[in-house]
Amino acid sequence: MSDKPIYDITPFTHLDYPGKLACIVWFCGCNMRCMYCYNSDIVFAKKGHYTEEDVYEFLDRRVGLLDGVVLSGGEPTLHDLLPICRRIRKMGFSIKLDTNGLNTDLIRELVEAGLIDYIALDFKAMNGKFGYVTGSSRYQNFAQTLDFLVANGAPFEVRTTVHADLLQPEDINAMMAELKSHGYEGPYYLQKFVETRHNIANMDKPKNEFDESRLDDTLQIVWR
Ligand code: SF4
Repeated sequence: MSDKPIYDITPFTHLDYPGKLACIVWFCGCNMRCMYCYNSDIVFAKKGHYTEEDVYEFLDRRVGLLDGVVLSGGEPTLHDLLPICRRIRKMGFSIKLDTNGLNTDLIRELVEAGLIDYIALDFKAMNGKFGYVTGSSRYQNFAQTLDFLVANGAPFEVRTTVHADLLQPEDINAMMAELKSHGYEGPYYLQKFVETRHNIANMDKPKNEFDESRLDDTLQIVWR
């Protein structure tokens, strides 16, 4: 791994960590290739712009100004987050992890070590479409992470990006039923595909409509 694993640092956000003023640390690389991903620069980056020390120096100057740190990417769990989280924690910050859930072992270690305060877990699609949407065949790893987080009682949310040519209301209904069958009872955050100039599969605006009235009420849906 590069000596500069961090692609970028967003110095301030009040939108990405519920109830907290935070910064975002964007880690290079990802083990998925989601068709709609607009962070392709980060996903394909072999090397970033910042070292871990750069992050600690930045955070040193933010003690008392920020409450928390969001670890995002790319997929942050491709990196050795244990020492990183210990160091951030020592500085007094809360930590939120954005993850696709494939690295169950590291997520378990982080949570059991009490190093993560909140997790945003991406649910990309049901198993039948998972590979098509993400380029990954590791649905079972996602499901294991979901089971672990439910059983552990760790504070987390589940979220899904909706592109109507990839996911229709019946897909979301099946995903809600799946979440419920795994014991998840929290809100289900849906975010609409954002059209940008670059995404991994060069996807345009959806050609299909997404009829929200066909969504079930299995879970509380919150659009973002
Ligand atoms: S949207 Fe998919 S490809 Fe992009 S960073 Fe997230 S998990 Fe990786």
